[in-house]
Amino acid sequence: GDCVNGKAAAAAAGGGLVVPEIRFTKLFINGEFVDAVSGKSFETRDPRTGEVLAHVAEADKDDVDRAVVAAREAFEHGKWPRMSGYERGRLMNKLADLMEEHADELAALDGADAGKLLLLGKIIDIPSAVQMLRYYAGAADKIHGESLRVAGKYQGYTLKEPIGVVGIITPWNFPTMMFFLKVSPALAAGCTVVVKPAEQTPLSALYYAHLAKLAGIPDGVINVVPGFGPTAGAAITSHMDVDSVTFTGSTEIGRTIMEASARSNLKMVSLELGGKSPMMIFDDADVDMAVNLSKLAIFYNKGEICVAGSRVYVQEGIYDEYVKKAVEAAKNWKVGDPFDATTNMGPQVDKVQFERVLKYIEIGKREGATLLTGGKPAGDKGYYIEPTIFADVKEDMQIAQEEIFGPVMSLMKFKTVDEVIQKANCSKYGLAAGIITKNLDIANRVSRSVKAGTVWVNCYFAFDPDAPFGGYKMSGFGRDQGMLALDKYLQVKSVITALPDSPWY
Ligand code: NAD
Repeated sequence: GDCVNGKAAAAAAGGGLVVPEIRFTKLFINGEFVDAVSGKSFETRDPRTGEVLAHVAEADKDDVDRAVVAAREAFEHGKWPRMSGYERGRLMNKLADLMEEHADELAALDGADAGKLLLLGKIIDIPSAVQMLRYYAGAADKIHGESLRVAGKYQGYTLKEPIGVVGIITPWNFPTMMFFLKVSPALAAGCTVVVKPAEQTPLSALYYAHLAKLAGIPDGVINVVPGFGPTAGAAITSHMDVDSVTFTGSTEIGRTIMEASARSNLKMVSLELGGKSPMMIFDDADVDMAVNLSKLAIFYNKGEICVAGSRVYVQEGIYDEYVKKAVEAAKNWKVGDPFDATTNMGPQVDKVQFERVLKYIEIGKREGATLLTGGKPAGDKGYYIEPTIFADVKEDMQIAQEEIFGPVMSLMKFKTVDEVIQKANCSKYGLAAGIITKNLDIANRVSRSVKAGTVWVNCYFAFDPDAPFGGYKMSGFGRDQGMLALDKYLQVKSVITALPDSPWY
């Protein structure tokens, strides 16, 4: 922590860029940092400048094989699935303690690797991941089956067993949160894991592997194999000895993963995919609050968030006032170095995403939407984009249907509650929805009518480990968070025993 803070202070004084110290760049397999079998490495870049941040060992099929062997051995013969849930929970809590101790370094790693705000990393990303870990640490000794009511001379019960070796494939937008969203319940259940972090942001996952070892989590339980999707990722999803894959990322790759499971060992799959979440603002809303929430909903984390409120529907009575204030808010949303505490929004994660977002802005213009503000790169280097708002967007435009994954709001006006429900549901996605109104009947009716896995009323991004999270429709299936998520990492076994003698029949 001190090291990063020291450099930050020096950089602030000299006006330079803070670059955190990077300690871990090799694959983590069976408790050791190792080179890739091929000896290859790949570059991860700093989106503030586009320059190389680190060279990271590049896993491919052979490395995934090694990691799966380690995870299998730890699962079949190791202590982890055999120790009490209480003991597993204790080690998970130790890992959480270590994360708290190293929060500054961890936030800086994600800041430099993903362009995330340093301040928010410290007060949101790292603490939320710690809370997630502790939530499931507390669940580890509460996983149990049920006694069954079996007719006749039998007794029956269910056992909940860990599913085995779990493959975890994560995206780059929340490197820390995504890691713990999946790893925490898997550990609580007694599984062992092979994690492939996104190639854009592999650094913090390697640090977590190191901390897990310090915490006393046995070798082979957590393996981390940075690399690319079609190589390392595909080696996990098509592996015959991986029992389950849990994925967050694009809908397109979600489909590829299901196909890989179908063609290999029919491993269990759960998918948290894209979104195009509607934010619905009704006439009775406090316009300032609506502007504030909807601004956060689309510009927070530079719009690189699967639940971003990217379609904003405003009722006609307050539309003009909303537009005026929303444009002002976008103009005041400060774009800049994510390590500067006064910045609201850092750069897009990499060149590919930067170009993709700009391409969608061009598409929006071509489709005839009105560009109210933004629409250009911000600054002359790095992958910064101005907060952008399009008005007069029509349901059938690409910018209303496709996930842009950037700071681009598509604004639409509506008249009636029926109309906005119909429009909100006019999407192949169904991840989240926002409702802003003081009218209880409208809030309740819309909450129940909208096809989305999470609905936020008069708030947005209100996450909690206890609230199940996942998608309807092409936003995927399966739920992260909540006690429900443990099911993804458990098998249920029914045991029926003949009972020739009972005093009760
Ligand atoms: P992606 O789906 O391509 O990548 C996500 C993860 O899947 C990465 O770890 C990647 O290496 C891996 N992967 C890629 N191909 C694979 C394969 N064939 N087999 C196994 N794993 C594979 O996402 P992206 O390219 O980083 O982003 C593209 C778009 O996806 C974004 O613009 C956005 O629309 C969406 N996205 C959504 C989320 C989300 O949280 N729902 C997160 C990131 C990206």
